[in-house]
Amino acid sequence: MNPHFFDFDQPTPLVKTCFQLSPSKRIHFQIKRDDLIDKLISGNKWRKLKYNFKQFDQNKFKGIASFGGAFSNHIAALSAAGKRADIPTLGFIRTHEIDFNNPTLSLAKTNGMQLIALSREAYRNRHNSEFINSLKQAYPDYLFVPEGGSNDLAALGLAELVEELKLQSIHSKHHVIACAIGSGGTISGMMDAFPDMKFIGIAAVKDFQLLEKLKVKYGVRLTIVSDNLFGGYGKTTPELNQFCLDFYNQTQIPIEPIYTGKLLHTLMHNYDELMSEQKSLVVIHTGGLQGLKGLNYRHQYQSPLWNDLLSLTDV
Ligand SMILES: *Cc1c(COP(=O)(O)O)cnc(C)c1O
Repeated sequence: MNPHFFDFDQPTPLVKTCFQLSPSKRIHFQIKRDDLIDKLISGNKWRKLKYNFKQFDQNKFKGIASFGGAFSNHIAALSAAGKRADIPTLGFIRTHEIDFNNPTLSLAKTNGMQLIALSREAYRNRHNSEFINSLKQAYPDYLFVPEGGSNDLAALGLAELVEELKLQSIHSKHHVIACAIGSGGTISGMMDAFPDMKFIGIAAVKDFQLLEKLKVKYGVRLTIVSDNLFGGYGKTTPELNQFCLDFYNQTQIPIEPIYTGKLLHTLMHNYDELMSEQKSLVVIHTGGLQGLKGLNYRHQYQSPLWNDLLSLTDV
């Protein structure tokens, strides 16, 4: 067992960039390139897994188990980290049957992850302690990490992201930080570690209970946008696909439609409303490029323009 590769923590670049939304509208902002942390253990998943792996007790557990959808970035990252650390991993996947042609699941399998299909109905109980206890009885030697990797240990990794931003001169007086929201672990980990900073959260998942909880907890420090989902979690449209391509062509920064594309589309198209104060925008690139392979698998993108972006996900 060797999770020491997580100790290599060179700060990720914070880069000035600009996007031409229309002939008369040019938007300047900075972007924190957490997508560059690692090709396989990408972005916020690296931040969230780091302390789960470092505190994994090999005397107590023999492996790490978690939950995810069939195209989950978390499952992809967990399997890759398990392989590198030589820790067995177990993935409970929301699907009726494991499809090994699915690029995410085939990668997870190659990484040695044991995959178990959970029906939609069973998967709904993933946060239910009775259900988890029954799984723990079936797999008694496994440490269970919640879906998306969001737990108290994940918050330690996100506090490190905040420390990097502070060292890179990001200050609540001058900046506002924006990131995508899935399970909410990334934004809350950052907000807890950066008490005066204002945040903008762009929902990638229609989970109103979660968004309400975040609103109550953070009040005016947090602005949430939840109406730019392009059909819902995991969905995309030709408009959003085109936006991701335009963004990549202009900035050379690759994004994907599931999280970072929705984030940047919302920020660029609503910049003036969202940025009413005299502050500048810092966007967290949470990675997740492997999701493009899943979208391609489902939709078979025909445009040769996608080849460039897709080739970045090759391993
Ligand atoms: C998982 C993921 C998110 C969502 O993060 P949460 O902590 O679950 O809110 C955002 N962006 C990318 C690229 C992700 O893979």
